[in-house]
Amino acid sequence: ATRLRFAPSPTGMFHVGNARSLLLNWLVARQSGGTLVLRIEDTDAERSRPEWTEGIVRAMAWLGVGPDEYEGPLFQSSYAAEHTKAAQQLFDAGKAYYCDCTRDVVRARSGSQYAGYDGFCSDRALQAADGRALRFRTPDEGVTVVKDLVRGEPTFENRLVEDFVIARGDGSPVFLLANVVDDITMRITHVMRAEEHLPNAPKQQLLWQALGHQPPTWAHTPILVNEKRQKLSKRRDKVALEMYRDEGYLASAMRNYLMLLGWAPSGDREIVPWSVIEEEFRLDHVNSAPAFFDLKKLAAFNGEYIRALSTEEFIDACGPWLTGPFVTEKEKAEAGFGITAPPWQPDAYEPAVFAKVAPLAQTRISLLAEIVPTVDFLFLDTLELDDASWAKASKDAKVLPDVIATFEALPIWRAVPLKEALLSVGEAHGLKLGKAQAPVRVAVTGRSVGLPLFESLEVLGRDRTLARLRAAAV
Ligand code: GLU
Repeated sequence: ATRLRFAPSPTGMFHVGNARSLLLNWLVARQSGGTLVLRIEDTDAERSRPEWTEGIVRAMAWLGVGPDEYEGPLFQSSYAAEHTKAAQQLFDAGKAYYCDCTRDVVRARSGSQYAGYDGFCSDRALQAADGRALRFRTPDEGVTVVKDLVRGEPTFENRLVEDFVIARGDGSPVFLLANVVDDITMRITHVMRAEEHLPNAPKQQLLWQALGHQPPTWAHTPILVNEKRQKLSKRRDKVALEMYRDEGYLASAMRNYLMLLGWAPSGDREIVPWSVIEEEFRLDHVNSAPAFFDLKKLAAFNGEYIRALSTEEFIDACGPWLTGPFVTEKEKAEAGFGITAPPWQPDAYEPAVFAKVAPLAQTRISLLAEIVPTVDFLFLDTLELDDASWAKASKDAKVLPDVIATFEALPIWRAVPLKEALLSVGEAHGLKLGKAQAPVRVAVTGRSVGLPLFESLEVLGRDRTLARLRAAAV
């Protein structure tokens, strides 16, 4: 049976590339009736931290996709004995040898700082000792063909694959070996991961064979690049999945979008239900070219997904930005993620008021976090007018005294009569509705764009609307 694994390292925030690998592995496991196993690769003790493991677990929960075999995180470090045993086994079989060359010595010998290891110790028959690394003896001839479902058959000349280190001078096995030993122990049949690991594949395949096992089927999925065609990097680009969550991307939109990186469903569609993806996705149709991680397109996708929610679902989905849980700015800066509290007083928020404008807001935002500036005028006690918006709109602020008088006289405070009233005041001043309503909008909502104005005034209510208009009119 097919057995796949998702093997993130807990050395940083969960990356959108991790999310994509997870989805792909999950899908292929589903489609093949196989099993997906989670393994936390914490061999790099210095860079691994428990909070990053928590982040992995949270990210999987948010995406709604997880492994089948999972009893709490399975840590690579708990297999250390197996790794050491495998290293010993390779040494005993003459497939690995101890080496005491320092990097500087190797460089000096080859005259280049980029040269691979020259095999100096391969025939010295050194025994294990502190400070001696264990190197795997790669074949000098022939080729290693990596059968890769995405890339075909990348072929590596063995003489160019250096005798690489499998255990450090202190005896600790390195990632390359640990990763293979765990895959063997977990009976993994398909190793599907990001392209940056492709250079490891020939080395790892040689290890599989040297340890007496049939290598797995590989699939190295294309790297993700930004709009400048640069590989996504955490210094330059927004890569942490939790940051997307905090901005109000829906997991469903994210899943759909991530699957379109290097692949497309049939027909002219891009936004498709997950069930269509499950049915149609084929790993061997994944393009091997770098995939553009297009933030604009992702936001547009998200907008579509938001509009497809029912009003109730939308209201629920907005909850975290309106009512928490919140973190402080400081906590956010420390953790790198989290939603901070909106600008209004905690008890100023009224669910019933929000419910009235929710359907209007739903068609206008593409990220859920945008709900806050969209509705803040309803819950803020004192409104700060956006300077640039007011500078522009105040040109026609001369209408305000008449608007106030007309609004005051309205017997019922509803959108339609409000609009009619403003139309007629505008006419009296020789202004079309658009011009006449600009100062009203900025005075009442603080901004020049937002929800439909007259519905907003209706929901805000007579007293608060008039108070804001009066404040702006002076
Ligand atoms: N732990 C590796 C990473 O997060 C995964 C290596 C693999 O999938 O083989 O990049």
